[in-house]
This record gives sequence, structure tokens and C-alpha cells, in this order.
Amino acid sequence: MPAEVTFRFYEELNDFLPPHKRKVPFTAVIKGNPSLKDVIESFNVPHTEIDLVLVNGIPKAFDYRIQDGDFISVYPVFELLNINGLKKTGKSLRNTKFILDVHLGKLARYLRFFGFDSYYRNDLDDDEIITRSVTEKRTILTRDKGILKNGSVTHGYYVRNQKPRSQLQEIIDKFDLKDKIKPFSRCSCCNGRIRKVSKQSVIRYLKPLTIKHFNEFYQCTECKNVYWEGSHFEKLTRWIQQFRNTKGS
Ligand SMILES: [Zn+2]
Repeated sequence: MPAEVTFRFYEELNDFLPPHKRKVPFTAVIKGNPSLKDVIESFNVPHTEIDLVLVNGIPKAFDYRIQDGDFISVYPVFELLNINGLKKTGKSLRNTKFILDVHLGKLARYLRFFGFDSYYRNDLDDDEIITRSVTEKRTILTRDKGILKNGSVTHGYYVRNQKPRSQLQEIIDKFDLKDKIKPFSRCSCCNGRIRKVSKQSVIRYLKPLTIKHFNEFYQCTECKNVYWEGSHFEKLTRWIQQFRNTKGS
């Protein structure tokens, strides 16, 4: 017999629902004997976005089997929540590392500019992304809900915005990263660490005008790219400053 079940999704989980199902209880008729995970994902809400599911007020695991008359409340990952509008106190101990899908190359570069460990290659397939995410404890950033529905994925986030700059703002807000920005600590090309080096040690890579006008140099420890504080640097510094000055939500 089909089960009639009531759902209520909270906070940003509503982003995945059609307007008439957002922020209100709604009923659904469920056929077969599906798990909580399957039913919730049938509403297009990836399980990685979910922290807690209450069935009739009691926390249940994703393998719980739906029963007639259940009232199911679904809550997002709490560290993404700003409960009652209060700013969270204390700093997250989590070391935020990301892996991005092939469509988010620009966001990966931006995150690296801001100093966030962001693995990205334009030839990664879903399996590699998932494996690396699990073994290196990286949060998957993606615009593809399909990846996030994979049962092996433990940490993932569906990026809502489409423009890279808005995506960067979204990630910094959602993961509460404003106080963790370390500009120019990571190579935008390869995600390697950048360290200060003597002019002499890199002079062979430099053009005459650069040698003439600049004295401070940085180098990627991985790909050996050399950086200096040119006009691009100033533009980026201003941009990063803007982020620091905007109030977090
Ligand atoms: Zn590099």
C-alpha cells in the first residue's frame, strides 16, 4: 500500500524545491518501500546538504524505511546555518579544503587567490572527484546535483550562483571563511603553496623591466611560477579588501 507522508524542509534546503513546496509542510504519496535517502533525493535535495532528519520528532538514519503517516523534517548542515540570525561564536576547527568540478575552473582560481586549498583539473571525472574528496577530506563544490547524490560522498555543496564572482562570495559566506582569507599564499595555476624568495634566486625567469621595477618576489613551491607585486596584484588586493569590508550575513 502506498504511504502518505508529510515533509518539511528547512532553511537553504528549500533552494532545491519548487516554490509551492518551500518552507511549508507538504504531503507526498510514496510507493514501494524506499529509504529516507532515496525519497529525499527524489525531491532533488542532495543528501550531502542534509545534517539531520527527524521522523515524527525522532532522528533517523538515511536507510530508514518510510511508513504511512510519517512526518519528516529535514534540516541542512548546521555549520552552514546562522541560527536565529546570531553570528556563530568561536572559530570552526575544520580545515576547509575543496575539490571543484570541471565547470568551476574560475571559482577554483579565485579561491586559490584567497588562499583556500582548491583542487581542480579540467579533466576530472565524477569518480575521481568523489575518491579524492573522500581520501583527502575535501568538500566537493559542484553545479551538478548528480555527483552529490552518490552514496559515497560525505562532504559536498551545491553552488547556487552561476557567475564566478558571486560563487566566490557564496562560498565565503556559506563556509564562514572571511576570517580565513590568506591572499597570495597559494598558486592560482596549480594550488601549490607560495613562498617569498630572493630576487637573485628567480632573476633568470624575469624580464628586464620586471627586474628594474620590482624587488619582492614569490614563487610556487610546486610549479615554480614566479609572482611579484605588479598591477594585477594591486587590483586583486583591492578586491580582497572589499570582501573583508563587507559584513558577513
Ligand atoms: Zn604553482
